[in-house]
Amino acid sequence: MLIYDLDFSELTNIVSSWGQPAFRARQIWTGLYKNFWAAPDEFTNLPKELREKLAAEIRFEVLTPTLKLDSSDGQTRKTLFKLPDDRQIEAVLMRYENRRTLCISTQVGCAMGCTFCATGQMGFTRHLSSGEIIAQVLYYARFLHAENDVVTNVVLMGMGEPFHNYDNTMTAIDRLNDPQGYNFGARRFTISTSGLVPAIRQFASEKRQVNLAVSLHAVENTLRSSMMPVNKKYDVEALIEACREYVEATGRRITFEWALINGVNDTPEQAKKLAILLKGLLCHVNAIPLNPTTGYEGKATTRERADIFKQVLEQNGIPCTIRIRRGIDIQAGCGQLAARAT
Ligand code: SAH
Ligand code: SF4
Repeated sequence: MLIYDLDFSELTNIVSSWGQPAFRARQIWTGLYKNFWAAPDEFTNLPKELREKLAAEIRFEVLTPTLKLDSSDGQTRKTLFKLPDDRQIEAVLMRYENRRTLCISTQVGCAMGCTFCATGQMGFTRHLSSGEIIAQVLYYARFLHAENDVVTNVVLMGMGEPFHNYDNTMTAIDRLNDPQGYNFGARRFTISTSGLVPAIRQFASEKRQVNLAVSLHAVENTLRSSMMPVNKKYDVEALIEACREYVEATGRRITFEWALINGVNDTPEQAKKLAILLKGLLCHVNAIPLNPTTGYEGKATTRERADIFKQVLEQNGIPCTIRIRRGIDIQAGCGQLAARAT
């Protein structure tokens, strides 16, 4: 049993089954989610026998950091973690002006098989539990707390497809959202999906305040299917239809992600087609020059081609940002996470 897999009522039941008063559960919850205590002996406000019981019955050490890498500019830190079953995942902290953004994983590997993505290239091993997702956030919350700093944003853009692990991902978000716990606002989360249409519909119907990003990368179905096998099941038309339903149901803006690959999906004609596809949809496009991975030949677009791509989109009414590449020297960029001890 992992401590962060428990919700408050489960924890309360366990603590009372040990003959402890109910307020002990609240003390433990506060210790975990407000003080970021990570081991039973840090809970000095609890009686010694309860601390020992906790240590004996519940696993507190969910993630063991095995490697910490800082980018040369000191703004990005990637941590490789070992899970209780010795599998490995990665999570990245990016500092940018006042932002402290965490990019966390939802699966070990990924089943979606996007050709240009290091996680896709490694295949799928397993889902993460809600507690394993939460533990990544609390690890960095504790790390930043020691510097009098806080996490400001969490993006579910690390290893894995969050909508393939829907329930555990939403449970993790809800638990981190708890006002009596970590109290992290839903609007400060962003979920990124490769385009699992039924999950987008479900997400839309739940009307959450969480931001949604959709990895598009191509407008033509043949090209998109060759890059992202998920497109064979849910094609571009079905995907955009679900996105329109999402915007209608929630009134929230969607982000479309586009990894710019030289000569593949970065021409002005493709930008024009993209603008036509997205016409009238409350959205913007986040374009990012492709990050290198060992299993894919494609190269990043040049700055000039990226600027033209953006210009064409904007002339056609679609806002576009070219994202700066972060943490490339430590393989912490988008699509570079593969839990290798490089
Ligand atoms: N599975 C989800 C979230 C994790 S991937 C998804 O695919 O959306 C996070 C983002 O990185 C996605 O937009 C993905 O398409 C992008 N990405 C993957 N490989 C990349 C690469 N080599 N260079 C740039 N972006 C990449
Ligand atoms: Fe999975 Fe996202 Fe990588 Fe595609 S881009 S393989 S969906 S992690």
